[in-house]
Amino acid sequence: MFPALFVSHGAPTLPLDDTPARDFLRGLGQSLPRPKVILAISAHWETERATLTAALRNSTIHDFRGFPKPLYDLHYDAPGAPDTAAQLAQALEQAGIPASFNDRRGLDHGAWVPLMLMYPTADIPVVQLSIQPQQGVAYHVALGKALRAFRDEGLILASGGFVHNLMALDWQGGAEPEWSARFSDWMDAALIERRDDDLVDYRSRAPGALRAHPTEDHILPLFVAYGAGEASRRLHRSATFGSLRMDAYAFD
Ligand code: ZN
Repeated sequence: MFPALFVSHGAPTLPLDDTPARDFLRGLGQSLPRPKVILAISAHWETERATLTAALRNSTIHDFRGFPKPLYDLHYDAPGAPDTAAQLAQALEQAGIPASFNDRRGLDHGAWVPLMLMYPTADIPVVQLSIQPQQGVAYHVALGKALRAFRDEGLILASGGFVHNLMALDWQGGAEPEWSARFSDWMDAALIERRDDDLVDYRSRAPGALRAHPTEDHILPLFVAYGAGEASRRLHRSATFGSLRMDAYAFD
């Protein structure tokens, strides 16, 4: 069975930046058996209802502005997997989670940035699943649970940010602030110890939660991956731009 992974995708320039997180992601794909198909869950696709991409081939969405031109030349047009999308929708429906399809949408940078580093040849089929921020943490853990059986054949790759506050970034790359480290330490212990109640209520229980995540979009993919596994392992920790934590986890 494949682990369910959570990775932090950082700034869209990650493929071009020489950072520990980039090198970690480059090695991560090679450290796993080759999956037949990948299910990507990114912070950058929010819908009211769980939605799966169902295109025959993925297009590359450059969903950011004002970055260097070489970034817009990057493409990750991996095959799609409409059959897998249909199976996954069935699994979600069986768990009481209504699901829809979108056969026009491609992969956003939350999906293609880590995929490009992990599997640069772009030949493994990819389906993307949206998040539903209005539904909160417990729903996303349940979403992950409903996807557990998929790990027999495919890799779940959830992509967000372990600490993600764009207003608090230090573009000069200074030291990590204390609030970010404290939040991360609390979150790490809760994940490793599988403290479900604390995690579901992390916004009131974790120190600095509202500062680490002014909105929940970049942390919700973590809870999908958490729900898809039963044991937690930290694979990577680092920070860029001060507080942008790039931590990654595997859920077995
Ligand atoms: Zn992002």
